[in-house]
Amino acid sequence: MQFDLLTIIPQAIEPYLQASLLGKAQMAGLLNLKIHDLRSWAKDKHRRVDDETFGGGEGMVFKPEPLVAAIEEITQGYQKGQVIYLSPQGRPLDQALVKELSDYQELLLICGRYEGIDERVIQGWVDQEISLGDFVLAGGELPALAVVEAVSRLVPGVVGKEESVRQDSFEAGLLEYPHYTRPQEFRGKKVPEVLLSGNHQEIQKWRQAQALM
Ligand code: SAM
Repeated sequence: MQFDLLTIIPQAIEPYLQASLLGKAQMAGLLNLKIHDLRSWAKDKHRRVDDETFGGGEGMVFKPEPLVAAIEEITQGYQKGQVIYLSPQGRPLDQALVKELSDYQELLLICGRYEGIDERVIQGWVDQEISLGDFVLAGGELPALAVVEAVSRLVPGVVGKEESVRQDSFEAGLLEYPHYTRPQEFRGKKVPEVLLSGNHQEIQKWRQAQALM
């Protein structure tokens, strides 16, 4: 699966995409994660991608010209892709949406900054807006990374043990049961007896009850 992240601060997201699960999945050829610097599509010598907002008011807005040029160029080879703008006005990200997104082959994630992007770009070139939640961040980079990581976990092979993905919270309409590891007692707090019993049926019953709770 291919993810294209369009941003004005590529250096902020690059290390995250190289590390851990996502880094390994790229090395294995399961994911293709590309970061694009929006300023590469700016036409003037200052590489400006923003301008003042019409109607007055504080804050700058991403101009349509570089943004649309970037979208058109990046999506040229898309087979089954979507253009997404990360925005507080978007559909809140949840596991149902993550599953829908995992059906695509390519996702272009536009990371806004300042006051956001010119509305005409949203109307003409964006398939959907996605929000990380009802709060305002300084940019769309963290929400874009959240989308990449959550969707990538559903790409076969990215998470080593697929059974663990199936048991995750929200997969069966429930939250996951609690986990414990060694030591059996930590500062007076004990691991529930049933988990040490070796009785798999009882363990399964306990986990199901915890998930329901
Ligand atoms: N003026 C905008 C508003 O009040 O809705 C907020 C703009 S915010 C400072 C700058 C950028 O951060 C947005 O264009 C968007 O890409 C991103 N952003 C901020 N909060 C977000 C959220 N909750 N979900 C997704 N993206 C968000």
